[in-house]
Amino acid sequence: MPDSALPRPEILRLPPDVINRIAAGEVVERPAAAVKELVENAIDAGARRIIVTLEGGGLARLCVEDDGCGLAPEELRLALERHATSKLKPDETGGIDLLNISSLGFRGEALASIAAVSRMRLLSRAGRDAAELVIEGGRIEGPKPAAFTGQGATGTQVDVRDLFFATPARLKFMKGERAETLGVADAVKRLAMAHPGVAFTLTSDGRESFRVSAELPGEEGRLNRLGAVLGRNFQDNCIAIDAERDGVRLSGFAGLPTYSRGNAQMQYLFVNGRPVKDRLMTGVVRAAYQDFLARDRHPVVALFLELDPEQVDVNVHPAKTEVRFRDAASIRGLMIGALRHGLAGAGHRASTTVAAFALGRARPEGAPTGPLFAPVMASRWGQRVAPSSFSQSGVSDRVSPTYDAGLPPSARVEPVMEAPENAFPLGAARAQLHETYIIAQTEDGIVIVDQHAAHERIVYERMKTEMQNGGVQRQPLLIPDIVTLTEEEAGRLLQHADQLAAFGLEIEAFGRGAICVRATPSLFGEMDTAGLLQDLADDFAEYDAGLSLSEKFEEVMGNMACRSSVRAGRRLTAAEMNALLRDMEATPFSGQCNHGRPTYVELKRADIERLFGRRG
Ligand code: ADP
Ligand code: MG
Repeated sequence: MPDSALPRPEILRLPPDVINRIAAGEVVERPAAAVKELVENAIDAGARRIIVTLEGGGLARLCVEDDGCGLAPEELRLALERHATSKLKPDETGGIDLLNISSLGFRGEALASIAAVSRMRLLSRAGRDAAELVIEGGRIEGPKPAAFTGQGATGTQVDVRDLFFATPARLKFMKGERAETLGVADAVKRLAMAHPGVAFTLTSDGRESFRVSAELPGEEGRLNRLGAVLGRNFQDNCIAIDAERDGVRLSGFAGLPTYSRGNAQMQYLFVNGRPVKDRLMTGVVRAAYQDFLARDRHPVVALFLELDPEQVDVNVHPAKTEVRFRDAASIRGLMIGALRHGLAGAGHRASTTVAAFALGRARPEGAPTGPLFAPVMASRWGQRVAPSSFSQSGVSDRVSPTYDAGLPPSARVEPVMEAPENAFPLGAARAQLHETYIIAQTEDGIVIVDQHAAHERIVYERMKTEMQNGGVQRQPLLIPDIVTLTEEEAGRLLQHADQLAAFGLEIEAFGRGAICVRATPSLFGEMDTAGLLQDLADDFAEYDAGLSLSEKFEEVMGNMACRSSVRAGRRLTAAEMNALLRDMEATPFSGQCNHGRPTYVELKRADIERLFGRRG
């Protein structure tokens, strides 16, 4: 049959309200997105105080009120028009540069989109006169004079009822009032973190769920704001990050590895004051921490990237939460460097929540329930006893094998110590309990060390050094291990055989889907080779294409440490225990094992006294 016989539908130009409803699908996916757009407008208008009110998860009603510059009565209708914005200005030639955006908004479609799918009342006052517009399903009434009841001399109230009533299909996708309320709270908190100078209040069904007052500019104000949003614990358990290169600045705070979470929701990333969900940035955070955290643990971070607006494209998606960097490699480099440097500076500091938790559990029944003690901070060690003083004196090198389970007793050397042991940060070993814990006495308290976690960390750091010095020592297996995997997995591992050999892991093909393991890294002693190969195969399958080879290597090392036998319980002599403590002090990152669990807990004498009711 010839084509012309097919029915040919007529092409229609869609009416504006339909266009707006289509756009609304992307711009305001759910109440949280509508609130985000309205709060962004308030921030762009220079508001110092923003009040968000919700009913029924924002679906029944959401209202955002600000004390910003406001809109003049004659501007109200224009503001509601699609693609009308005050935030993009033509240059001398009349052109508009989309790569030079310093406001949060610029697309001019939020008000139009929200109005298209709800019943909206827009009330604003810029000068003396206040006016309002009422919009229902795209029909506009007004402007007409109105009484402005807002908090400031100028300002705006956008009151949105029955969101999505005009798009019933979308309504079906809502998750329920509670989930939508949480979504709105998350959106408000993210913007609040990026704008500490603005006060925020969020009320939901008559209950105030979030309130922060305005902070002063500067790092302290930002940390106060982050603490108010993320909780005091975050403030006590984070590292300040501040690095700048070629006009790009990364600042903010990164949580200690021991303060990690079971999901990645507590990662707050911002670009030029805009909360973003960016794959590059989340990938970098994962890479920077992978040395310290198990795969199912996630760090808590609040990181702010500031750069020339020309260097970043925010016009990627209508919701404006995605960005593209012009020079992604240099952003990645700056971020990795800054985070690693920050984490290295934290040395063997473990999270305060660890000791707090221990004490909380140990408190006798009937004792007062308030906080009993000041958080224990070990961060000052680095200054008191510089790790280099150990390695320079050779002490750490000489004594390190003494607790190494892989060596015969004759190879052990008694450590020689110039200083009294309890002057060291981790103190003098006094006892070993359950063949697992070392109890040491410090100048002003006690330290409990998890010897396996600590040993694992030290071996791991040593492996890194061997790696840098030309490859890891291998221990050939007397009888090679044969490990069966799927053909695909085996293929993937064999592709990396050369690199794995540099790690001390020698593998070769052994028929379909099987691999023969000939040698493992000497440092680790006996290994669960089957488990290790499976882990590695899984990893190779899911590696982020954005990560460099050396970043993958750290994960490989982490896998090895995890599948090695260094955890097994073993009795230690006093000299061995002290050697382990001294080695921990000299080892970077020894405050936590490779999976972010602490390797030791410190209790100050004052804490112990409180525990026994000797102090208030
Ligand atoms: P955009 O923010 O991308 O410009 P919107 O549709 O969100 O687009 O807003 C359109 C315009 O309305 C803005 O450019 C601004 O001039 C004005 N406007 C919106 N909300 C406010 C507000 N809270 N205070 C002052 N002006 C506002
Ligand atoms: Mg806007």
